Amino acid sequence: MKIKPGAGWKDLPAGGFINEPATALEFHTGDWRAMRPVWHEDKCIQCLQCWVYCPDSAVIVRDQKVCGPNLDYCKGCGICAKVCPPKEKAITMIREGEEG
Ligand code: SF4
Ligand code: SF4
Repeated sequence: MKIKPGAGWKDLPAGGFINEPATALEFHTGDWRAMRPVWHEDKCIQCLQCWVYCPDSAVIVRDQKVCGPNLDYCKGCGICAKVCPPKEKAITMIREGEEG
């Protein structure tokens, strides 16, 4: 439900009700991120550890294969880079604004 600017309290929906499903998808929570993961496809062994441990479910998996982070929702916590096997190091963290 969209709330129009200047709406009064009587226009607001009652608390505790979910009027529409999946509205969180519209809110790109990754936009305040300071760091971001860069996925290196050539080094990835598809162990899926990053997908398992990402607290925001922001690692994209298609056909049971990792395809990189979803930067719309990634918070830049770096957990995926930590759990990526050290031999592979298929994810590196860089500052926002830096080239990956
Ligand atoms: S940096 Fe954090 S939020 Fe982003 S993909 Fe990696 S584990 Fe998920
Ligand atoms: S943890 Fe690293 S090697 Fe494993 S799937 Fe993720 S990016 Fe690939």
